[in-house]
Amino acid sequence: MTDLFPPRRAPRLPIAGDSRVFPVNRIFCIGRNYADHAAEMGAAPEPIFFMKPAHSIITGPSVPYPPQTSDLHHEVEMVLALGPGAEVVAAGTGVDLTRRDLQGQMKEKRAPWEIGKAFTASAPVGALRLGPAPSVGSISLSVNGNTRQSGDLNQMILPPAELIQALSRYFDLAEGDLIFSGTPAGVAAIAPGDTVEARIAGLSDLDFTLTGA
Ligand code: MN
Repeated sequence: MTDLFPPRRAPRLPIAGDSRVFPVNRIFCIGRNYADHAAEMGAAPEPIFFMKPAHSIITGPSVPYPPQTSDLHHEVEMVLALGPGAEVVAAGTGVDLTRRDLQGQMKEKRAPWEIGKAFTASAPVGALRLGPAPSVGSISLSVNGNTRQSGDLNQMILPPAELIQALSRYFDLAEGDLIFSGTPAGVAAIAPGDTVEARIAGLSDLDFTLTGA
């Protein structure tokens, strides 16, 4: 049989210091995995799961401002990258971009979050670093040089191993899957022209500038 059209190729993430790239399968996300962020959102510190499509991935240095929002928020997160056997083979620095106004409207309706979370270019991720994911170390984000988020990976309610265990109860995690592991407090709006610098100790930096409107 012949494909009606060429299948879209899975996005790839670069790997620091390695000529190979990481082919992305699915993107799982955990919400409310840091108590201080759950509190700032007025939510209980009970982790919840949602997803973004693989094609939400973008590596920068430019990220387009998405349509239908006037309240785009940054959420810096460590990204776990799974290989065969659903083992963590690499980790990276990501930003879970969120149309907070749309997410809020969906929360009020007790409706799914996709329009707030799963839009094109909603998942900037930097180069991956091969090896285990750190469970301690600083995680921070600044906008135009001003620190907005500053926390430590050891604040995660579900650290990497427990997070994977919890997700595995619901999903058949597989090679190529990414897991956004949650964000510390300090989420806020960004606008076209803003430069975002996301930093996690021991992992590759992620820098991008928001373009358009
Ligand atoms: Mn998030």
